Amino acid sequence: MDEILKLRNDFPILKQTIYKRNIVYFDNAATTQKPYSVINVMKEYYEKYNSNIHRGVHFLSDKMTEAYENTRIIIKKFINAKHSHEVIFTSGTTESINLVAYCFAEKYIKENDEIILTIMEHHSNIVPWQLVAQRKNAKIKVIPIDYSGNLLINELNNLITEKTKIIALTHISNVIGTINDIKKVIEIAHSNNIPVLIDGAQSIQHTKIDVQELDCDFFVFSGHKIYGPTGTGVLYGKEKWLDDFPPYKGGGDMIKSVTFENTIFNSLPLKFEAGTTNFNGIVALGTAINYLNKNNFNNIINYEEKLTNYLLMKIMELDFVKIIGLPEKRSSIVSFTLNNIHHYDAGMLLDKMDIAVRTGHHCAQPLIKSFGIDGTIRVSLAFYNTFEEIDYLCECLKKVKEYFN
Ligand code: PMP
Repeated sequence: MDEILKLRNDFPILKQTIYKRNIVYFDNAATTQKPYSVINVMKEYYEKYNSNIHRGVHFLSDKMTEAYENTRIIIKKFINAKHSHEVIFTSGTTESINLVAYCFAEKYIKENDEIILTIMEHHSNIVPWQLVAQRKNAKIKVIPIDYSGNLLINELNNLITEKTKIIALTHISNVIGTINDIKKVIEIAHSNNIPVLIDGAQSIQHTKIDVQELDCDFFVFSGHKIYGPTGTGVLYGKEKWLDDFPPYKGGGDMIKSVTFENTIFNSLPLKFEAGTTNFNGIVALGTAINYLNKNNFNNIINYEEKLTNYLLMKIMELDFVKIIGLPEKRSSIVSFTLNNIHHYDAGMLLDKMDIAVRTGHHCAQPLIKSFGIDGTIRVSLAFYNTFEEIDYLCECLKKVKEYFN
């Protein structure tokens, strides 16, 4: 555990005092902080190697291209993809889902076809499919949850029909922390010949992902939620799907040859990386993943589990706090409400006590509504958080209660 506690020193932002004490950053589900190695590598590459990738014949371009492609290999290994060309760089989870939704629909979705989502999806795994449904006159069906926030996976058997073309669901809820049994969903889907997209925005940084073992068809995540830079993301897709997809965006790098009559598209992965990508950010994303690999990711995961259990235990001791969702398997995201105190007011007061939490609907309005509320206070932990910070949060929640009473 001491080793993990030392890692906190790698994150300069956490040494900052906003009002009176070091900031307590509990908004990790929105974005994670960056270690020195990630910050420094961006500076280093801009200072020494900045040059556009893939097209140059000079030293700088070669160097940048090598580092960019090296990140693809790092990610291939990190998620255990079969081929590195199954790793497509995007700007984030949102773009990855839009890419799959658009391309998949172009090829496979027709009028009256069905797309299955869950009620706990982030808007970025709802709206792209809604756009598809509108364009193609298709239908969206939704897997419900029980009151504890467990996904009712058995309902899938009632929802699937011969018109079901794809299932897209989150691995971990960004609001209530439920860890969905995606392996079971994938097995049921595949036994009906239906592909599955997994939104890994909240799982890639907290669990070990093996896309071959899961056998998912698509797995997407954002770089900024795994200690990397904003504007970077990944779409993993099985080769058979990505090869078959039409292109998503047209532009440089995604072509083999262009005439005014016709374009021959590039092969994977460049077919989906049109234009100048955030190559410097992608290099730094590789550094972020190396940081986790170097610091024993399994230990990090174990520590986060202990921290989460402690948070739950401490919060449950407070009789004015109501936890929203108590799923059987959960991650380090905990949402709650306070008796007669609006989540927004509580969040503002906590901020003044140097605690950063998120309040509101967390871009998951259907889920929030299903609990009959309009928002929560969300605490989301990362390995650089401590048990002391959780104690401090509970003290501050008591002060919030006193203030409003
Ligand atoms: N899905 C989930 C489950 C998320 O938590 C988020 C970010 N809050 C997203 C998708 C969207 O990620 P991004 O904004 O990085 O594209």
